[in-house]
Amino acid sequence: MTQEIWTIKDVLSWSIGFLQKSGSESPRLDAELLLAEALDCRRLDLYLDYSKPLEQSERNRYKDMIRRRAQGEPVAYITGRGGFFGLTFNVSASTLIPRPETEHLVEHMLENTAKDSVMRVLDIGTGTGCIALTLKHHRPNWTIEAWDVSPEALAIAHSNAANLKLDVEFREVDALNIETWGEDRQKFDMIVSNPPYIAASETDVMSTSAIKFEPHRALFADKNGLIFYSSFAENLPRILQAKGKVFLEIGYAQRSLVSSLLDEAGWTDIFCHKDLSGHDRVVIASSP
Ligand code: GLN
Repeated sequence: MTQEIWTIKDVLSWSIGFLQKSGSESPRLDAELLLAEALDCRRLDLYLDYSKPLEQSERNRYKDMIRRRAQGEPVAYITGRGGFFGLTFNVSASTLIPRPETEHLVEHMLENTAKDSVMRVLDIGTGTGCIALTLKHHRPNWTIEAWDVSPEALAIAHSNAANLKLDVEFREVDALNIETWGEDRQKFDMIVSNPPYIAASETDVMSTSAIKFEPHRALFADKNGLIFYSSFAENLPRILQAKGKVFLEIGYAQRSLVSSLLDEAGWTDIFCHKDLSGHDRVVIASSP
């Protein structure tokens, strides 16, 4: 019986074509990331071992991954990992995949603070913990607390803190229910959040893979996507120092609505920054 030989080069060229036909926008990158995962090697190694034949078990593992990707599942859910600000985070079906837009929140917080500064910082809706843990990585003297309503997401965040050897206090809190916030706590110097902000009516303009695979609770928000911002505008001053800063990720069309909510509640110095695609993305304001 002759055994068919498939080298790394063969499987890559086959799978790139297959993913392209099934609608992936980055078929080569996807194929490389998944093959490196299936073979437990670095992406670079694929090219160093280009003519190496795959074992049957490796081929099976890879085929299964490619089949999932062809059905639209994001690469990060297939590999169980996503990158953010140069660090790697575990992800699961209970967490959003960290997004490049969200890196701007971290960037703006690091920009105006010294490496050795000492602050108390809160991340609301931490998901994988990517914001809180990246901040702790770059600002080791900050005391960072991070909330999420989902115990499953918090388990992932804990695993990321352990992998990265970073100390953040994670708590199960429903940001919309101030009774779960805890009492008599020392106020924070800064609060950051990338809350759910998509209105139910926007599903038709969203990527189908986000709707199909990412947790709806982390994406969608009531009151036309604004419920977190209106609650934050009203309630965050309870736990944020006067003149303390809030850093919020927003949807590309929410700048004026979110700014008005903050303005009406007495917040000052309200600025909005764009992301790399030129969309309004980060609102910064000072507490009343
Ligand atoms: N803070 C997490 C992130 O930015 C999760 C955000 C969310 O679930 N809405 O990825």
